[in-house]
Amino acid sequence: MKKAIALISGGLDSMLAARVVQAQGIHVEGINFYTGFCIEGHTHAIRNTSQNKPKRNNALWVAEQLGIKLHIIDIIQEYKQIVLNPKHGYGAHLNPCLDCKIFMVNKAKRWMEAHEFDFIITGEVIGQRPKSQLKKAMPIVAKESQAEDRLLRPLCAKLLAPTLPERESWVDRDKLYDFSGRSRTPQFDLAKQFNFKDYAQPAGGCCFLTNGHYTQKLKDLWKHRGKRDYEFDDIVLLKVGRHIRPACHFKLIIGRDEGENQFLEAYQQQFTSLKPITHLGPLTLIDGHATAEDMQLAAQIAARFTQAETNEHVTFEINSLSGSLLTMTVVPFTTDQICKEWYISG
Ligand code: SF4
Repeated sequence: MKKAIALISGGLDSMLAARVVQAQGIHVEGINFYTGFCIEGHTHAIRNTSQNKPKRNNALWVAEQLGIKLHIIDIIQEYKQIVLNPKHGYGAHLNPCLDCKIFMVNKAKRWMEAHEFDFIITGEVIGQRPKSQLKKAMPIVAKESQAEDRLLRPLCAKLLAPTLPERESWVDRDKLYDFSGRSRTPQFDLAKQFNFKDYAQPAGGCCFLTNGHYTQKLKDLWKHRGKRDYEFDDIVLLKVGRHIRPACHFKLIIGRDEGENQFLEAYQQQFTSLKPITHLGPLTLIDGHATAEDMQLAAQIAARFTQAETNEHVTFEINSLSGSLLTMTVVPFTTDQICKEWYISG
């Protein structure tokens, strides 16, 4: 029996692509790459506003629906070179989609060879996304990933030259599809045919690199650190809280709800933090080197997000990096006193 490895993002397209091939009697297993920028799971698991979204890993859930094995592979470190120096450039934000696809298909190809599988499946649809899913990008991905014609895109295969699995009749080309364009109707219809009633509807792509607010914070981080680089904690913290930079040398990360406050608490060993003790309000982390004067400014800004009235005094417990605990009492800034330009993500 021929064996295929399917790139599983957790969305509908990769789920359908894997099912189409499975339905032709091919043994399919899934592979999911974790870049650190994935939207899946993280934000939905933390924020109170996302409580109605299911707390699940969609890639694992898709694998369960398909009844296939899923291999989750951490590529956080290797992926940095793709984000920092994409050969084909970025999309609308800092999303290096074409390089990302090439990189992931190449990783899948090496996995395929090491595990004696026969071909790779992706859920790409021509014209679905700008740049990475243009018709002219398809051969680039196949060639530069070195997967060549062992890369099958079942949802749009009929619009492309026959691949090895089709030519060798491992799969029947007539039972593949010719989806193209941004409309999702053909995918929804196919989902109905396969009796898939529930599936993730990713908004804005697979990762935070397509999100303008997020990438503004990433650019700000690079600018103020003086280098284009990041660690895992950096990219996770950019997903959490309001980011306010009142001066070049420090910024505030202020929790937006209970879930985020609890998440930020885990970082109190790495950052000086401010916690209101006289009023209900968020936890704030200070990223950078803040002087005593800066801390006063930071506390006045943070106090704005507590439940204190404008003229009430708010006392904070300051947990410094040296481990010392201080208190500071301030009058909150008014909304107008917090410059709009200080908000990093607009
Ligand atoms: S949206 Fe993100 S994960 Fe998806 S192809 Fe683009 S860069 Fe890669």
